Amino acid sequence: MSAFLFLVSAVLFILSLRGLSSAASSKRGNLFGIIGMAIAVVATVMSPPVSFYTVIVLGIIVGGFIGYVIAKKISMTNLPQLIAGFHSLVGLSAVLIAFSVLRNPRAFGLPETQSLGGLLEMSVGACIGAITFTGSAVAFIKLSGLFRKLIVQLPKQHIINAIIAFCVIGFVIAFVCFGSMALLTIVVSLSFLLGWFLIIPIGGADMPVIVSMLNSYSGWAAAGIGFTLENTLLIIVGAIVGTSGAILSNIMCRGMNRSLVNVVLGGFGTDVSAASSGSSDSSGRNVKVSSPEDAAFILKNADSIIVVPGYGMAVSHAQHAIKEISDICKNGGATVRFAIHPVAGRMPGHMNVLLAEANIEYEDVLEIGEINHDFANTDVVLVVGANDITNPAAKNDPTSPIYGMPVLDVDKARTVLFIKRSLGSGYAGIDNSLFYQNNTMMILGDAKRVCEEILQSAK
Ligand code: NDP
Repeated sequence: MSAFLFLVSAVLFILSLRGLSSAASSKRGNLFGIIGMAIAVVATVMSPPVSFYTVIVLGIIVGGFIGYVIAKKISMTNLPQLIAGFHSLVGLSAVLIAFSVLRNPRAFGLPETQSLGGLLEMSVGACIGAITFTGSAVAFIKLSGLFRKLIVQLPKQHIINAIIAFCVIGFVIAFVCFGSMALLTIVVSLSFLLGWFLIIPIGGADMPVIVSMLNSYSGWAAAGIGFTLENTLLIIVGAIVGTSGAILSNIMCRGMNRSLVNVVLGGFGTDVSAASSGSSDSSGRNVKVSSPEDAAFILKNADSIIVVPGYGMAVSHAQHAIKEISDICKNGGATVRFAIHPVAGRMPGHMNVLLAEANIEYEDVLEIGEINHDFANTDVVLVVGANDITNPAAKNDPTSPIYGMPVLDVDKARTVLFIKRSLGSGYAGIDNSLFYQNNTMMILGDAKRVCEEILQSAK
């Protein structure tokens, strides 16, 4: 019976992933995922080796309550660190399960002595789980900006990482030969260290790729432990998560003109914790600061407008006011489109979700490849709380940490209206020369407040 239920939930997980691939079907995709997970939990609890129901029910109640509170409280802008936090829990579970199985295999319905293959699966699952745990913890720290003092990078970090990686392989082989608890503890401890050190040098524009890569790791950790537990569902779901995370990382790398190897080796983007201490070098350059009233006038007289949303729009919840501004401009005969950069905001698809929430039509929302060539023929670009994704340094300055990342060609438009609170930097911590361009007008202030003032003037 449980094999049949596992099959049903595996199919539901595949349908869920399919649903999540487009905004229109994402609600249905989520629903399939929820039902699939509920069936998986019931099937697991009903399976023969499970007996201690009080603890399980207690765990479900407490865990479910914590999950409910987090889901209610979390804001969209904090989702990436929440996801990193959840990945770390998946990694930690893989590690704890490996130790538990080694200590008492009978409790899991497994034979007393593990085969060589079983020990290999167990140690690989625990190793990937440990790397996922500390790697995700570092990602969480970087994304949330908390405990930055913990992020210390050692000199010759890559060489140290390579040495640790070789030691891990050596101890995995030793563990497979002897199967001792002490050897598994060494494998896990070294893997914890490796995960921490691997993610430390990665920062700036590479963080989105790292979040999806850790997602992939968490899937492989689950699949590895699925082999140990002889649990087909865990293997299937782990493989789905592992592969889809790897595919997403690859898509994001292509979108950023990067190779995955390069990202993992940490050669691109500055560490945000270090970078953000550097402020924009605005000395000696002229900035045109304008008012919301001027912006409304310029927008109402434009024939073509492109809105570039970024992280600041998400924090300030300016999307509804922007929708109203775009409606007024459209009613006046202008074409209004929205340009989406693959890493705008703080998670993949962040801007698409917010624009959909404000009922902005899908056909007006275009990806970078579809709209970039149109900036040169556009009257006005309205940049709302975006920064790095517009920075021309990515095209012109080989010394810039974001050099090579594709950016929206905002600088080519006839007029650029830039809404943000200051001339400060964005996530990558670097100055944006666009602020000082002749055709740029800065409208300084909270994006929502500024957009509402533009809206009032436009009305
Ligand atoms: P940025 O972080 O580059 O810039 C956002 C800008 O918004 C800031 O410069 C800030 O300037 C402004 N801002 C903040 N709050 C407000 C507010 N209330 N009102 C108005 N403006 C505000 O964001 P982008 O979207 O341009 O680029 C995304 C960056 O995040 C990239 O570097 C990307 O690599 C990184 N990243 C992306 C992830 C993803 O998956 N999408 C995940 C992790 C990182 P000021 O303080 O002056 O207002």
